Amino acid sequence: MTIPRISSPLALFGLAGALVVALIVGSLAASGPPEVGPLEPVHAAPAERLQTVELKWGQTFGEVLEGANIGWSDQNSLLLAFREQANPRSMKDGTRITLRWFQEVEELRGIDVTLSADETVRLLRDEAGWSSDVVRTPIVVDTLLISGSIEYTLSDAITELGDLSGTTWGDRVEIVDKLDKVFQWQVDFSRQVQKGDTYRFTMEREVRPDGSMRSGHLIAAEFVNSGMPYRAIWFDPNKDGVGTFYDEDGKSVRRAFLMKPIPLSRISSGYSNARLHPVHNFVRAHRGVDFAAPVGTPIEATSDGVIIFADYKGELGNLIELRAPNGWVSRYGHMKSFARGIRVGSRVKQGQIVGYVGTTGAVTGPHVHYELRRNGAALDPLSIKLPAGDPVPTSDWGRWALEAEERLLLLETLPGPPIFRAAEDVTPDSLANVSDSSGD
Ligand SMILES: [Zn+2]
Repeated sequence: MTIPRISSPLALFGLAGALVVALIVGSLAASGPPEVGPLEPVHAAPAERLQTVELKWGQTFGEVLEGANIGWSDQNSLLLAFREQANPRSMKDGTRITLRWFQEVEELRGIDVTLSADETVRLLRDEAGWSSDVVRTPIVVDTLLISGSIEYTLSDAITELGDLSGTTWGDRVEIVDKLDKVFQWQVDFSRQVQKGDTYRFTMEREVRPDGSMRSGHLIAAEFVNSGMPYRAIWFDPNKDGVGTFYDEDGKSVRRAFLMKPIPLSRISSGYSNARLHPVHNFVRAHRGVDFAAPVGTPIEATSDGVIIFADYKGELGNLIELRAPNGWVSRYGHMKSFARGIRVGSRVKQGQIVGYVGTTGAVTGPHVHYELRRNGAALDPLSIKLPAGDPVPTSDWGRWALEAEERLLLLETLPGPPIFRAAEDVTPDSLANVSDSSGD
């Protein structure tokens, strides 16, 4: 996905109140695919009767047609036409099927099968029988500007925003998850957040007519935790649309390792040199951190690297060992199963799913046992200083300074503490001195 540059300074927004939500509506989706909606009239606008059916578990499209009293030849022709676009056997339960009838003559005029929020197969009668087409849900690109303060948790603050117009609950959870992923190295949203902490962020979205989000992309974000501001500005050095986040000095906000292999999970047992073992009931060290989560929850690789072990190993059950480029090794135990394609020698990316939470080995409940090792010695992943990600490349400094300035200006249209733009005072040389990617 390419992210268009934001050019206007947007100084026009009203800033009253503790909370401002503003939408900058960008370009409408390109013309071309027709919108989902009423069919074009043939002669005069027909009186249409809509009959909507949701596919039940185990039910087939053919059974729905049969249940709607559609004749055999039409049924066959409809299925043939549908097969040109999708496999009727792989339709999920809950799929919405809308039958469009001519009101007067009780004759079938067309059928819409909503495959996903973005795709509808439209079946229409023609001279030969039935023809089919895929109709794509149109989208609007907009930019969301949101700020507020925290009463209880960030999650409560965002999911209960009255003004997040039309946004679904699932989309709000996704926004919280995105913020958590960006700030995971600076702030533990599940434990560190204080009443009165503030946040502001700007996100570029693709939105459907019903207000749901096809995709959302953070451009800049700020979280002020107990008076300490943390900022993250998206920048794409490789221009491949992926990009990453830097602070206002151009230093990466990322680390070479994620804080935890399961986002938003609960720590059920921390790192210690001596603890009472829950299964064996005697005191011994716990050289890792346990994160509790339901069986089947995906487990993410905390760094890029190569899988060096993927097998059953005694008390740790199904275990994966991953060697990072800096030589550190992360281990993930008690897995139910490994992810598809994960075996010794597989190369993985930070955040890639390597397996699923289980109860294999010696456990009292489902969790992942997570370890981080350097030269064979265990480290406490939650208290060690993790090696930093790379800063903005020197060769991209000019573009970074311009884009970061724009993105910070966008944030500044929202109420909050003024942003000190250190970017103006920082040069590639001074950056080279402060950057520390060696990580001790
Ligand atoms: Zn453990």
